[in-house]
Amino acid sequence: MKKIEHIGIAVNNLEEAAKTYELLMNEAPYKTEHVESEGVATMFFKSGESKIELLAATNDDSPIAKFIDKKGEGIHHIAFAVSDIETEIKTLEDKGFQLLNKTAKKGADNKMIAFLHPKSNHGVLVELCQEIE
Ligand code: ZN
Repeated sequence: MKKIEHIGIAVNNLEEAAKTYELLMNEAPYKTEHVESEGVATMFFKSGESKIELLAATNDDSPIAKFIDKKGEGIHHIAFAVSDIETEIKTLEDKGFQLLNKTAKKGADNKMIAFLHPKSNHGVLVELCQEIE
């Protein structure tokens, strides 16, 4: 793992949350992106080498809608940057981690991504991400 690439935060309302985070971080979001396949709308803020990703559901079946139903708003996942995501997936599987994605899929912010089940990581949903060249 190269570094913490971003921290994902589940929010009810993207525009409202964006106002709060703009005040908090004293910086405007640099990107807004809808990932239809995941049922999420995202907004990204830079924080040094890392980022904050706000995630809001775009439909009731969205994983973000289910997360907020269960736990309320808050930290949803931690994403680590990796240089070779397919190799990382296999390596972690061999080490006994439970992967939610056996191969990487296209995520927001020009990344290939895969998730590790929170059960594997003491309750934390972990995302692996690799920048698409
Ligand atoms: Zn993420």
